[in-house]
Amino acid sequence: ALDAWPGGPETVVDLDAIAHNVRILRDHAGDAAVMAVVKADGYNHGAVAVGKAALAAGAAELGVTSIDEAVALREAGITAPILSWLNDSSADYAAAIAADIEIGVSTVSQLRAVEAAVRSTGRAATVTLKVDTGLNRNGLSTVEYPQALAELRALVDEQAVRFRAIFSHLACGDEPEHPTNDLQRDRFLDAIAAAKEHGLEPELVHLANSPATLTRPDLAFDMVRPGIAVYGLSPVPELGDFGLRPAMTFQARVVQIKRVAAGEGISYGHTWIAPRDTTVALIPAGYADGVFRPLSGRFEVWLGGARRPNVGRVCMDQFVVDLGDNAADVREGDVAIMFGGGDGEPRAEEWAARLDTINYEVVCSPRGRSIRRYA
Ligand code: PLP
Repeated sequence: ALDAWPGGPETVVDLDAIAHNVRILRDHAGDAAVMAVVKADGYNHGAVAVGKAALAAGAAELGVTSIDEAVALREAGITAPILSWLNDSSADYAAAIAADIEIGVSTVSQLRAVEAAVRSTGRAATVTLKVDTGLNRNGLSTVEYPQALAELRALVDEQAVRFRAIFSHLACGDEPEHPTNDLQRDRFLDAIAAAKEHGLEPELVHLANSPATLTRPDLAFDMVRPGIAVYGLSPVPELGDFGLRPAMTFQARVVQIKRVAAGEGISYGHTWIAPRDTTVALIPAGYADGVFRPLSGRFEVWLGGARRPNVGRVCMDQFVVDLGDNAADVREGDVAIMFGGGDGEPRAEEWAARLDTINYEVVCSPRGRSIRRYA
């Protein structure tokens, strides 16, 4: 229903770029498998389409945060292993078991909730342990870990649980030389050893996110878990693009073009006064759609074969670009690219730099009336 705003904002997601990026990640992963992380609706690229494209390109598994996200992938026909790693003890573990979702366990109470679901469904659960090795976010703490291992061992012995993996997440993966990476590796190895001492042999262990996959082959273990790089964005922009191709283009179509006389102010508050007679184009996309208002006067679009500056404030539904002396190249209905991956087009990293954030947040921003289609 929301695709009825002709010319309005849209993200165009290039699934060939997803496949290309997965192949690059596989090259870096060596013998390790690739789990494509498609949480948050595939970093706002569409989890189902990206998941299928990534698996077709050689990813072995998919990873998401919630059970709902995982079940939705299963219901879309994906048969590969799917791991869900952020759930509290009230989550619907019966649904996870029914959909054959691998459950990432971060607390003892969560493990007990999984056990209760096993008892009520009469079906075994697949459990993976998430251990906290220094990010100090979710994951079993060293305090809880021995208890979790003891209880898991009992569940495995009675075949209530299949024990799949141990994994952890890096705090400073985007700084390849940061000593915390080595500290977390050492703690991770200790956690694996402790599990083995409890008679628990994981089928696989994994630690690396995108930056570690691309810069720390020594941390690849049995599988890597890249997210942002699957979408073609560099996890360490200062180290280059690693040959990745951005999959998302955020664009809208020129809805109106007009002449403006020198001295006229543009948009709310008249923060920009035309220094000369000029032509401006109106783009129907605003902060309600993910074009952040703090970008006002600080970003450009690719339009009519050139970069054109936004002038005046970004509004809820629209913003203005100055066409200056090159107005003849632009017509109503032309596509204005706010960020993308093509030659000359602004990059998500430019928005990130201006907004004091990271490319991850930029690609998560298109929303509101922004529709998505695939190329
Ligand atoms: N693994 C876990 C547990 C995560 O939470 C995330 C994302 O934050 C990833 C892997 C993927 O990280 P990245 O997008 O930096 O590759």
